[in-house]
Amino acid sequence: MADVIQLLPDHVANQIAAGEVVQRPASVVKELLENAIDARATEIKLVVKDAGKTLVQVIDNGVGMSVTDARLSFERHATSKIRSAEDLFQLHTKGFRGEALASIAAIAHVEMNTCQEEDEVGTLLRVEGGKVTNEEVVVTPKGTSIAVKNLFFNIPARRNFLKSDTVELRHILDEFHRVVLAHPSIHFMMYNNGNEIFNLPAGNYRQRIVHVMGGKTNEKLVPVEETTEVLKITGFVIKPEYAKKSKSEQFFFVNNRFIKSGYLHHAVMASYEGILKDQMQPGYFLYLDVNPASIDINIHPTKTEIKFDDEHTLYALLKSAVKHSLGQFNVAPILDFDR
Ligand code: ADP
Ligand code: MG
Repeated sequence: MADVIQLLPDHVANQIAAGEVVQRPASVVKELLENAIDARATEIKLVVKDAGKTLVQVIDNGVGMSVTDARLSFERHATSKIRSAEDLFQLHTKGFRGEALASIAAIAHVEMNTCQEEDEVGTLLRVEGGKVTNEEVVVTPKGTSIAVKNLFFNIPARRNFLKSDTVELRHILDEFHRVVLAHPSIHFMMYNNGNEIFNLPAGNYRQRIVHVMGGKTNEKLVPVEETTEVLKITGFVIKPEYAKKSKSEQFFFVNNRFIKSGYLHHAVMASYEGILKDQMQPGYFLYLDVNPASIDINIHPTKTEIKFDDEHTLYALLKSAVKHSLGQFNVAPILDFDR
């Protein structure tokens, strides 16, 4: 019998992995913004064209990369953020899988310009469909710029699957909101088709939320605050009278990472019991700080789900903290005749 098993070449493996990491232009936005944050940038610019289908570019003033690191950054499982599996339980970075750049470069045309603080000159690298097509020594600002063009150029089925520009831009804005709300101390800018659509100066959480969500948000916010040995909760809930039909103002961040959690959402809903009209959704911006050893983020490549060691305690603390805040601000229950 003939042998039939073959090792897939790297570029094929990367293209397959890319399927999980990069669903649409918004996934590229998320990965590049997170890399800029991990690079300790204080100013980050996001530039998109045609809802990211033509261009997604992130320009940061972070630590930059040496020429060798720049080359390595496009390899799969290449990361500066962890060294061993144990490090997964003391993560202080957004990234750790070392596969975003490899995945993105496998399915797009990528141009990177990067320069470290101490260096006079930096590096330009072009990678297309996983292959390095150009490397030059260049004079470029300190930090890193990564431009991702023609996403899915070599996977027509994926490219055709992309939705209208309006829908794809909505996804990009959602990712942008999640990232900027988690990092108010970083100055973020966003441009779409040449127009500035966000310029968010560094500030505190309240200022950032108000900047992002718009004018009247400030008066709607009720602070939430709770500190215990296992957990710190800070942030805001929106007064019940401003509840919405949609879930568009619901954000959980765990150690400054946006996450989705039906379980924690339930805890918040439970604190609003009796004070929300039927079918209405409360707004919340809740920041949970926990010991990194007590959570597992490595459940899915997009890292929006977390496994908590002790979710029951978390549930109870969150519920009581939100309830307490609503009570303090004299949020009265809705009486039956009000319905
Ligand atoms: P991960 O973020 O999981 O480490 P990535 O593929 O996103 O994997 O990035 C690979 C490596 O490239 C990072 O670990 C980092 O060292 C480097 N890198 C990526 N983006 C930047 C950036 N904007 N500034 C500095 N270094 C970067
Ligand atoms: Mg990364």
